[in-house]
Amino acid sequence: MKLYNTLTRTIEEFVPYEEGKVTFYTCGPTVYHDQHIGNMRNYIGHDILDKTLRYLGYDVLRVMNITDVGHLTSDSDSGDDKMVKSAKEQHKSVMDIAHYYTEQFFNDFKLLNNRVPEVVAPATDYIADYIKIIQKLLDTGYAYQAGGNVYFDVSKLKDYYQLTNHKEDEMVVGVREGVSFDENKRNQADFALWFTKSKFDDQELKWESPFGLGYPGWHMECSGISMHYCGEHLDIHGGGVDNIFPHHTNEIAQSEAYLGHPWCHYWFHNEHLMDESGKMSKSKGATLTVSLLKEKGYDPLAYRFMCLNSHYRKQIVFSYENLENATKAFVKLKNKIQALKPEGSYDSGLFHEWDQKFIACLEDDLNIPNALTLLYDLLKSEVAGNIKIQLIEQWDQVFSLDLLKKDDEAEEETLDEEILKQIERRNQAKKEKNFALADEIREELLKQGIRLIDGREGTKFERI
Ligand code: AMP
Ligand code: ZN
Repeated sequence: MKLYNTLTRTIEEFVPYEEGKVTFYTCGPTVYHDQHIGNMRNYIGHDILDKTLRYLGYDVLRVMNITDVGHLTSDSDSGDDKMVKSAKEQHKSVMDIAHYYTEQFFNDFKLLNNRVPEVVAPATDYIADYIKIIQKLLDTGYAYQAGGNVYFDVSKLKDYYQLTNHKEDEMVVGVREGVSFDENKRNQADFALWFTKSKFDDQELKWESPFGLGYPGWHMECSGISMHYCGEHLDIHGGGVDNIFPHHTNEIAQSEAYLGHPWCHYWFHNEHLMDESGKMSKSKGATLTVSLLKEKGYDPLAYRFMCLNSHYRKQIVFSYENLENATKAFVKLKNKIQALKPEGSYDSGLFHEWDQKFIACLEDDLNIPNALTLLYDLLKSEVAGNIKIQLIEQWDQVFSLDLLKKDDEAEEETLDEEILKQIERRNQAKKEKNFALADEIREELLKQGIRLIDGREGTKFERI
C-alpha cells in the first residue's frame, strides 16, 4: 500500500516493522466538551485507514487515548487545563465531565459506524508510564526542572522540527501571536513534561512523583500510552493536521530521546473540515455534533458519505447545502443497491477482478473517492446482480455505509439502541434507589408498546 507520510513529505510504500502486523495509534478526544463534526471527520479518516489495513489482511492493533488531564487552553503550556476549566463552568467534578463527554463521543463515533479501537486508554490511567519516561529524560539531560515544572530541552536534539517543513523561527511557540513568554524555559520552544506550578493549584487531579505533586503534559500522554501498548516501534500515528505542531513534533522529540532510536515510521494526518469562516473549532459558538445533525433529521451516514467523497488530505467545506446534496446522492445510491436482485451465476474470476480494482484504490494513498466511483461503475456494469451484491457487501467493510441495510432494518436497530439506553437509565435509577424514576421509565416505554421483563440476567424487552 502507498501512503503519504508527513515525516518524509512523500507518498511511500507502507512496510510495517513486523511482517503482517500493524500498530496504529491515534490521538483521541479531549473530553471537556462535545466533539463537533469537524473532529468526527478526523475519526472517520482513521477508521478508513484502520479498516483498509484489515481489508488488506494485516493484523492491526489500534490504540486511542482519551485526554482527561493536562491539555491546556494554549499549546504553549500556558492557560488553564481544559478539563478543569470546563468542570468549573459546569459545577461538576473533572471525572464527571470526563465520563459524560467520553460517552457522548462514543455515541457519535458509533452513529458514524466507526469501529471502536482495541484499546481505548484514558490518560489518567498511565501516570506511572509518564513518570518513568520523564525520569529517564531528566537522567540523560534531555529534560530539566525549572519553576516547579519539568521541561524538555529541544536544543538537545539534532532535528526537533523534522515533522514540520517550517523554518525554526516561524514555528517557535514563543514567538507566535498571542502566546506568552515563559521565563522558566531555556528555549521558548521547550515544552512541559510535568506540571507542578503553583499557578495550577486548583487542579483537581494530581499525582505524587519524584518531580513533585503534579500532573503530566498533554504530549507526554500520547508517547506514554502508545509505547505502553505498541512498544518501541510504532508503525502509524494518526491525527488531524493541526496536531503536527506542536503536539506530534513534541511526541517525536520526547519518545526518540527516551528510546535512543527512531520511533514512529509513518505519520498520517487528516485535513480539516472548514466552515464559511475557517477551520471548524470548538471556540466558535454552538457546537454542531453528529447527534445534533441526527436530531435535525440528517442521517449520520450521509455525513460519513459526504466525508468519503473527498480525499483525506483535502479540506472539506461544510454547509447544509453540501450535506443535503450528499444526502440526496446517498439515498439514490442506496436505492440503486437495494433494488439489486441476487441473480446470475457466481464467477470467482470476475469477483476477484473487481475486488482488485477496489484494492488498487485503497492502496493508492486511500483513494476512497475513486473507490466510490468504482462502486458506481460496478452498478452500471453488466456484472450479475449476485456478484454485485457480494462485492458491495465486502467493500462496505471499509466504507461502512450500511449500503445493503434496508432503511426499516436500520430504523429498528436505532430504536433498539434507544430502548437499551432507557433500560440503562432505569438500572441506574434503581441503583440510586430512585424507584419513582425507574417506574416512570417503565411506564413511558409501555406507552410506546415496549414491555420490560426483569430477570436474573438483567432486563429484557418485548414489543407488544
Ligand atoms: P481535540 O479534542 O481538541 O483534541 O480534537 C480532537 C481531534 O480533532 C484532533 O486530532 C484534531 O486534529 C481534530 N480536529 C479538530 N478540529 C478539526 C476540524 N475542523 N476538522 C477535522 N479535524 C479536526
Ligand atoms: Zn496525541
